[in-house]
Amino acid sequence: MQRIILGFGRDDEGDWVARLACGHNRHVRHRPPFINRPWVVHAAGRASWLGRSFDCLRCDRLEWPSRILQHRPPDRCIGLGFARTDRFDDPGAASGNWRTLELSQGHATLCIDALHVERPITPGEAVAIPPNVAFRLYAASTAQACLRTYRLI
Ligand SMILES: [Zn+2]
Repeated sequence: MQRIILGFGRDDEGDWVARLACGHNRHVRHRPPFINRPWVVHAAGRASWLGRSFDCLRCDRLEWPSRILQHRPPDRCIGLGFARTDRFDDPGAASGNWRTLELSQGHATLCIDALHVERPITPGEAVAIPPNVAFRLYAASTAQACLRTYRLI
């Protein structure tokens, strides 16, 4: 999933990393002849990449971000299978917030079209939902889930 570059920094080994708006970091090494990013070596080159986007594979894998997150209540409870509602649609947090979806009972299937994700989630499992990503939750029988919101700080 494409994410905007907010800035650059170095890791413990001195390699350049791009700080992405999603809270993940991505290495942007320059190691010729195999990895060629001569622009990263100079401040002007890095500055020219600010605001552009990189594909974030960590968002694609639903990995929790490396930057610090703050829990933002209220949590939202989702009940499925009651009153013939077996599907929950979420348009995605436009604010750039991260969320977790945790199933407290039952079984459900999580679908994230933008990331080609369709997989079962089981009780007790908390799945990370990256910012600005819509999802659907399906349950064949009754299920309850909790959606928690986190803000990057
Ligand atoms: Zn990401």
